[in-house]
Amino acid sequence: MRPSVIRNRVPRDACSLHHPDPFPSSDPLGYFVGDESQYAMDETSVCVTYDFDAVAAWLAADMPAYHTWGAYGAETAAPRLLNLHDRLDVPATWFVPGHTIDSFPETCGEVCDRGYEIAHHGYSHESPASMRSREEERRDFERGIDAIYDLTGEKPEGYRAPDGGFSEETVELLEELGFEWDSSQGVHDCRPYYLWANPTVDPDQPYDPGRATDIVEIPVLWHRDDWLQLFPVVTGPEWVAYAHEPAIFDRWRRELEWIRSHVEGGVFTLLLHPQCAGRIPFVDELERFLVDVREMDDVRFAEAGTIATEFREEKHPRHTRRR
Ligand SMILES: [Zn+2]
Repeated sequence: MRPSVIRNRVPRDACSLHHPDPFPSSDPLGYFVGDESQYAMDETSVCVTYDFDAVAAWLAADMPAYHTWGAYGAETAAPRLLNLHDRLDVPATWFVPGHTIDSFPETCGEVCDRGYEIAHHGYSHESPASMRSREEERRDFERGIDAIYDLTGEKPEGYRAPDGGFSEETVELLEELGFEWDSSQGVHDCRPYYLWANPTVDPDQPYDPGRATDIVEIPVLWHRDDWLQLFPVVTGPEWVAYAHEPAIFDRWRRELEWIRSHVEGGVFTLLLHPQCAGRIPFVDELERFLVDVREMDDVRFAEAGTIATEFREEKHPRHTRRR
């Protein structure tokens, strides 16, 4: 079984923090409870995640070519990425829709058999925000849970919303169905926090974040999403072109450097998709990045579930709303 954490050799020297991130004084709504020492995991964590959407990402598309892009993700790119992670011994968290498990059981079996963490990403990959009722959303949730149980023998503990969009029901369904953590949002960009339910947005009233929950949020942001930077999106006469891969990683390296020098125990989450990240120019840059991170004495690789468990049990075991 693959270890869920790869620790590098030398512990972090806390004195290397030049300018600590302002925290929690910059937290008027009380998302981040307690003082900074509660969050002081010694090392920076790099959390590599894959949204294994495959054909499920294209179910609403009526062009066969789109479907083959999804099949490419499952048949060509995912095995390539699994081999890369195996070779470098880097853990990763795979968010797998039930549709992908039923469509590509051999590849999904490899993800499981090689010891990678598997989390929930819907069944049909339809965004919860577009579901027509609580019952429809719950059915999709349960079908996805069943598919993962059939694959792994265990119920998933973590979730990421397809397209990142919650409905008004999503957080309550996560609670009802026993999820421990989520990775869909980002009130912070490099610290876990507890998810809030049912925020209220009213142009005549201050923003109300809603009700505190016990679900740990591992933040993920769209500027660390390969899809938004690599996939051409047909929007009219202009297509959003493919980004230059070294430029993407240069930005990500700079962000990781900032977190290392400003935030003690920060978390750097990458949101990748096999059908994007497995492409040859990107996977080449990804390998360079992972190799370089392995050489950083104060950085470790960790699964999302491991970070959530540490946050809940070791760093912040009780959540009370601070307002
Ligand atoms: Zn997805």
